[in-house]
Amino acid sequence: MESYKIAVLPGDGIGPEVMQAALKVLDTVGEIENVRFDYEYAQVGGCAIDETGAPLSKETLQMCQRSDAVLLGAVGGPKWESLPQDQKPEQALLKLRGGLGLYSNLRPTVVFPALADASSLREEIVSGVDVMVVRELTGGIYFGTPKGADKNKGWNTMVYERHEVERIAHVAFDLAQKRNGRVCSVDKANVLDVSQFWRDIVVEVHKDYPDVELEHMYVDNAAMQLVRTPKQFDVIVTSNMFGDILSDIASMVTGSLGMLPSASLGEKYALYEPVHGSAPDIAGQGKANPLAMIMSVSMMLSYTLDLPKAGAAIQTAVSEVLEEGYRTGELYRQGDKLVNTDEMSDLVIKKMAEVRENIA
Ligand code: NAD
Repeated sequence: MESYKIAVLPGDGIGPEVMQAALKVLDTVGEIENVRFDYEYAQVGGCAIDETGAPLSKETLQMCQRSDAVLLGAVGGPKWESLPQDQKPEQALLKLRGGLGLYSNLRPTVVFPALADASSLREEIVSGVDVMVVRELTGGIYFGTPKGADKNKGWNTMVYERHEVERIAHVAFDLAQKRNGRVCSVDKANVLDVSQFWRDIVVEVHKDYPDVELEHMYVDNAAMQLVRTPKQFDVIVTSNMFGDILSDIASMVTGSLGMLPSASLGEKYALYEPVHGSAPDIAGQGKANPLAMIMSVSMMLSYTLDLPKAGAAIQTAVSEVLEEGYRTGELYRQGDKLVNTDEMSDLVIKKMAEVRENIA
């Protein structure tokens, strides 16, 4: 029997609740697919600070490096907010990205038909949206040197090296080949030299992908277009900071943070986590929407574990459960069927059994 080692980092707040709900779904995939998932657990974030004094221990990073994939819930909370910047729970995320060499962040924005009216944008603008934002994660202005601040000025440096742009461009073009064959590279080449460099390299890499359409867009225009006509996009590829901002704009098209999964991929390792944080305001109350975590598991099955049919089956099950009117609290409206975290997960599992023939 095929087996996979999964490093499980539930984290803080609603992290453990959504993780438990998602692992139940993964267990079901194991039964249906006849594969074994071996879970190794570790603390990360605030709970790790309480236990070991550090948000991510060396042992935990090594455990992740031994795994086939890492699942992360969420980290942070009011208890640790007053700690100095470099000791906060969120440092665990940066250390994981660095330690696992996760240079690309993939955030799909999919509007499920049943939720098309939950967006702050008009239904006809958002229905049918299916955009993948590919953000470069380990370079650019967040990491460039020199950087610093004194009494009179502050400075950061946006640097990209050729290999960094080449590898993220390959990720975007490869994805586009499996999707709708279009890549939009977002930059600020009219002002920044580093962006013109980025654009030139993307054009070079594109020569290997004659079947993919490439367009370029300035970041200010892309922000506007994402809100005006998000359906025009298939894959968006962009630098670290622009991706940080654009992926949040793209997220809001769907209407709920509780619905957004993500993948962070490198040469050797992969980490999957929901986009939302630890939601301390609803932690421990069974109110958290587990679907972002469950769909992060679906991405893991498709991208890393080579079980794409199982990944697709989860997506279908989620869509059908929503179609039947089930909602967790943050999406609930009169006439919907209100469910808690566990019940939502059970509904997805039940639905997967019904669509079983699709993955068997
Ligand atoms: P948040 O995403 O935790 O919550 C924002 C709002 O969305 C809250 O009202 C919350 O209840 C709601 N929400 C979030 N996820 C939900 C879900 N699955 N179901 C239902 N409602 C959900 O963002 P925040 O409040 O700004 O941050 C809280 C803590 O999380 C902070 O410490 C922050 O630093 C941390 N954080 C961590 C990550 C991460 O681990 N990747 C990401 C963002 C924020």
